[in-house]
Order: sequence, then structure tokens, then C-alpha cells
Amino acid sequence: MIINDKEFGEVIIRKNPLSRGVKFSVSTSGRLQMSVPKYTSDFLAKRFLNSNRNAIREQLPIKNPNEQRARDYQKKVMMKKAKEYLPYRLEYFANLYGYKYSKCRLTHANTRWGSCSSNKTISLNIGLMKVPEILRDYVILHELAHLNHMDHSKAFWAEVGLHDKNYKIHEKKLKYFNPGI
Ligand SMILES: [Zn+2]
Repeated sequence: MIINDKEFGEVIIRKNPLSRGVKFSVSTSGRLQMSVPKYTSDFLAKRFLNSNRNAIREQLPIKNPNEQRARDYQKKVMMKKAKEYLPYRLEYFANLYGYKYSKCRLTHANTRWGSCSSNKTISLNIGLMKVPEILRDYVILHELAHLNHMDHSKAFWAEVGLHDKNYKIHEKKLKYFNPGI
């Protein structure tokens, strides 16, 4: 039997005639597995799960397998979308405003939307695919401006402002989104 748990996702309950107590393990599919004595009712099994949450969290290597799988899948989908979009959008703006970068790298860092290295590599976070286009464009224009100014000086912001006059608003709005996936 499988029960759906808010925290652990799908939990497999095995009623085992040989089992005297309740045992928790992780199944090969990555789901939480609970082995209980044969005559344990579903109600009791759920109650046991509830009263052992802390122990399960601490002892089992995979804490929320379903959520982890969902996240991995989401990352894959986002990477695919990003590959088909971000390098071209970057190229588009670079050509439009006459910037020269060496290459575009896609990342999934948790803390930043983009970066520009001294060897002119521009990194863009694949999480940009989930923010509104106008903010995505702002990040690209921001990183392109770093090709000429490797700091956040007045001159840097003046250059960003040339291509995105609402950059201050966009910088603020971006804070409502999380670059991590
Ligand atoms: Zn910057």
C-alpha cells in the first residue's frame, strides 16, 4: 500500500508477517518505506509515521525523495528552455549595442542571476526562465555593461541606464524572485 504524505511524498507501507516492530528504510525507487507487522491498520501506520518524523528526517539519507525528483526534473526542463533562449537573447543584445563577450555559460547557482568574468565570459542563471521577460533582459543588459565596467560604479549604472532606463525598478523587482530552483 502507498500513502501520500505531505512531507515525505509517497510512502510505501509493507505489511510483513515476520515483522514485530516498525522499520523505516528507503526503497530502491528512493521512496520512504515502512515495514509494519501484518495486522497493523492503515490508521495506526499513519500515526506511527507522524510520531517518528524527527527520527526519519535524521536517519534517512533521502529526506523527501519525491520532491527531490520533481526538482531534478524541473531543473532539466528549465535547462533545456534556457539553452534554447538565453544564449540567443544575449547575442541579440550584444549585437544591438555593440558588445563583445567571449562566451555564454549557463549556471544554476542559488544566489546570483548572472556574472561577467574578466575573460569576458557571461554566465546566466537558468532560473531566469521563470522571471518576467523584462527582468530577464535587464539581467542580460546588466552583465553586458560589466564588459566595460567590472564594478558597480556610477559609470557602470549610467551605462546600464542607457539600455534600460527603468533599471532601478527592475533591480528591485528581481529581489522578489529566487535564483535557486
Ligand atoms: Zn553586477
